[in-house]
Amino acid sequence: MTRTIGARAALVLLAVAAASCSRRPEPDGPWRSVLLVTVDTLRADRLGAYGHDRDTSPALDALAARGARFDRALVPTPRTTQSLASLLTGRDPLRHGVRLLSQSLDDASETVAERFRDAGYRTGAFVVVPFFTPALGPQGLDQGFESFDTFDDRRGFARDARAEEVADAAIRWIDERGDEPWFLWVHLRDPHAPYWNHPGDAAEGCGLADALTPDYSGPWNAYFHYWAVRPNGRPAGGALTKAHQDRKGRLKFGHDRLSDADVERAIALYDGEIRYTDHHFGRMLAALETRGRADDTVVVLTADHGESLGEHDFWFDHGEFLYDPSLRVPLVVHAPTKAPTVVEGQVGTIDVAPTLLDLFGLAPFASADGRSFAAALDGAPFPGRSLFAESGEPLMAEHNPRFAPADGAAFVPPSDPNDRLRAAALTDRRKLILDPRAAPGSEWELYAIADDPRELADLATDPASLEPLARPRAMLEKIAAEDTTLGPTDLTDEALKRLHEQGYLLGKK
Ligand SMILES: [Zn+2]
Repeated sequence: MTRTIGARAALVLLAVAAASCSRRPEPDGPWRSVLLVTVDTLRADRLGAYGHDRDTSPALDALAARGARFDRALVPTPRTTQSLASLLTGRDPLRHGVRLLSQSLDDASETVAERFRDAGYRTGAFVVVPFFTPALGPQGLDQGFESFDTFDDRRGFARDARAEEVADAAIRWIDERGDEPWFLWVHLRDPHAPYWNHPGDAAEGCGLADALTPDYSGPWNAYFHYWAVRPNGRPAGGALTKAHQDRKGRLKFGHDRLSDADVERAIALYDGEIRYTDHHFGRMLAALETRGRADDTVVVLTADHGESLGEHDFWFDHGEFLYDPSLRVPLVVHAPTKAPTVVEGQVGTIDVAPTLLDLFGLAPFASADGRSFAAALDGAPFPGRSLFAESGEPLMAEHNPRFAPADGAAFVPPSDPNDRLRAAALTDRRKLILDPRAAPGSEWELYAIADDPRELADLATDPASLEPLARPRAMLEKIAAEDTTLGPTDLTDEALKRLHEQGYLLGKK
């Protein structure tokens, strides 16, 4: 806002001379760029800044100490494509229309990258989602990005690239931009299964899992992946069989159990992946520092969803349920010159894009479910807000107790792809969940998150507890009743095969 009249006039003239050069709006601070980092499958409470007692996240902890840490940030759905589409558009899945892992974001959607690109920022993305296929590409998530690297192999399939390679590529991209303002999105995926071991030097982000389980002698030395299946998605020495999928399903949904030592090892490997990812996140932050860009770059770190590590008998996966291990993610925003703060009020990752537009003085989305939390970065009182969430499409439903037949009855696969859980996460930290398949009288769950963070006591067993919640109940019932179809799916044979290889569709052929 201190621009001189002369400079403003010159900019107007430039805009007339070259219509494609639009005048860049003024940010609300001395910021010229955005580094948005998302980490796949990263639940909040495995990070030091969120109270974990293991040293998993020194780089993020240091950033959180300098910036704003949002204590309770939730994703609108615990699956990758749908959640990332929400992050980039500020809309719930029901409204942007990506309801399956394999669906693409419509071209008509407005994305945060389009806004920054149109305002004259250089835009780039480095995104690790290994079920992207040549036919579907990045499923519409690339809208607004001048470059969008998915680390493809020679056949054009996206690879499961490690954080070190991704961080190297991102730092090269920053170098190539020189002094230009930019918007860079980096999506790292290391904490997603398979959980790889990273033996080696702690100074390189390695060695944590072995340090935590020094005496481990079971099968999960190198990695942990869907119990009996190798990291490439295939069992040793053959094709996937019904026996493999049954073993996976029975363990995933708690019908069978791993030994205590195997569980401890798997969780140590998950924590080790976080430590490894944090190291390379820290390298990106250090690169900004050494290039003199740390003081003019807004850095955001969050996740597409968390991971259930056995809570509610759901093991080493996400997507099926709406409990906090899958919905609650880290959200740290460092906007240089803003004082450090911790924001207790509930926010959604759908709020991130509207906030970035607000901070940089860009026009808000014409239609968004998210809203800016920029005022909270200044320490303004922030009461938190209600959010909506839905589970992903059911996978391996025959093993999911939610779909279990009554005693003696044959299993009937869910025929309606809309058949999923929905939740209203209420501002005073209550969570209300509607299960459309449950028997009448037991379709609701209610948890007082503030008093019961592990969601152990279902208050809905007392019908009186539901009486004050008439409005959110009516909203969830309305959505469940009306929204019975999904949009056209982009599920090609190639995409099906890819999801199958990644372990998502182990139960389907
Ligand atoms: Zn994901």
